[in-house]
Amino acid sequence: MPTPSILCDIGNVIVSFDFRIASNRLASRSDCPEDALFDRLHHLKLPFEDGQIDDQTFITQAIEAIGFKDSPAEFCRIWCDIFAPNLALTRTLEQLASSHPLFLLSNTSGLHKDFLFSEFPVFNLFQGGVYSYSAKASKPGTEIFRIAIEHLDLDPAQTFYIDDLLPNIETAARLGFITHHYDLTQHHLLESSLSNWTNQLS
Ligand SMILES: [Mg+2]
Repeated sequence: MPTPSILCDIGNVIVSFDFRIASNRLASRSDCPEDALFDRLHHLKLPFEDGQIDDQTFITQAIEAIGFKDSPAEFCRIWCDIFAPNLALTRTLEQLASSHPLFLLSNTSGLHKDFLFSEFPVFNLFQGGVYSYSAKASKPGTEIFRIAIEHLDLDPAQTFYIDDLLPNIETAARLGFITHHYDLTQHHLLESSLSNWTNQLS
């Protein structure tokens, strides 16, 4: 029987993010007005996160789509620099890590995942993870959860899943996970759910 585990989304849970930081910086160095920028990139972003196009293809096509005038390296730096750590959850995870295996489940690209692991030490607390770009499947679909169950050796009934998006929570609940619909502004509600769960375990 697997040990009771925590499975955690990344965006707007472990880190907050704001794509407008990138759109403002990219627009200032491209042919594209800021308010049109994500419309021009929309057809690339989801296939990129689902692993249908690789890093280099995404970067080349995105630069072309918005008429970016700086280097590919600068595009990547701007594209990735949109995150801020959630310090309240970081502290919670630091406490949990001594008693529960921690795993990640995220819709993300390889570029963002690698950036997050290099920038934020909280990601060192995790023993593994499943990411849409490498799983070639994304939440809220069931396939990526099934991949996580198998790959991370999870028992959903013994796994506490944290995500900020309700459709993802609904899929997880349907598959038998213990769930918490996270709100960055209501961190104390996660603390309560977690202590109810850990009390039931003991
Ligand atoms: Mg999220």
